[in-house]
Amino acid sequence: MTVHHFTVDVEEYFHPTALAAYYPMAEWGTLKRRTPRVIPRLLEFVGEHGVKGTFFVLGWLAAHERAMVRSISDAGHEIASHGYEHELVGKLGPDGFRESVKRARGVLQDITGQAVRGYRAPSFSIVPGLEWAFDILLDEGYTYDASLFPITQHPTYGYPAVGRDPTWVERPTGRLAEFPSTTARVMGTLLPASGGAYFRILPYALMRAGLRQAEGRGASGVFYIHPWELDDWVPEVDAPRLQMIRTFAGRRRTWSRMRRMFREFRFGPMGEGLAMMEAKGGV
Ligand SMILES: [Zn+2]
Repeated sequence: MTVHHFTVDVEEYFHPTALAAYYPMAEWGTLKRRTPRVIPRLLEFVGEHGVKGTFFVLGWLAAHERAMVRSISDAGHEIASHGYEHELVGKLGPDGFRESVKRARGVLQDITGQAVRGYRAPSFSIVPGLEWAFDILLDEGYTYDASLFPITQHPTYGYPAVGRDPTWVERPTGRLAEFPSTTARVMGTLLPASGGAYFRILPYALMRAGLRQAEGRGASGVFYIHPWELDDWVPEVDAPRLQMIRTFAGRRRTWSRMRRMFREFRFGPMGEGLAMMEAKGGV
């Protein structure tokens, strides 16, 4: 039976790109953090379903919530990196990106005492033209990436050339395993079917189709979710209504849909998928 990948981007409601403009980094430390409430509920929930996953933790949050990161690791999940400050890769540029992934990895490894192998960029922001990011990840000790979304319809991200399934990205200094987010082919078009807003707002059948199609190809799919999608609390922020809907709509469905998905599919961390790829394809 195919084992898919359950992943969580561990960040606060004030981190998603859609709301970043309303929460300057200088103020983050003064804001109420919700993850210490949501993560224990999530750990209990996935524990009940026997699911282990990969948690891409934002470095800044890890530095402020060390015990929470330890609790995720102690529950048997893999800790990976979501960068340090949730800035888009293109905005950071090569030097800023190196600093971000190095600093985040250092903080996370210091907390858990275990090597951090995986990285996911904020808002899937490794896009065509930013391939230097792969070289920097390899250079900084990462062995896999989960930042690419093989879709064409999103205005700010998408990396169609990677293909739909886990693969190796070959670079001059080595190769990086890549776990692209899952898509479902519907009437000839690849639609995002991997989690987040797509999972909350679009029909559950799309997610199921994406995972089933991956299984048909003998590949593992990827599911991702954020703590703020599992919370019932809405921050008071003066953002446009559309922004708020995209960020928070459908949250009452998230838990029940995950329960359904856990009954229909098996999930494990990406580190296990990586080990399988290494065993198959040599190193
Ligand atoms: Zn994020």
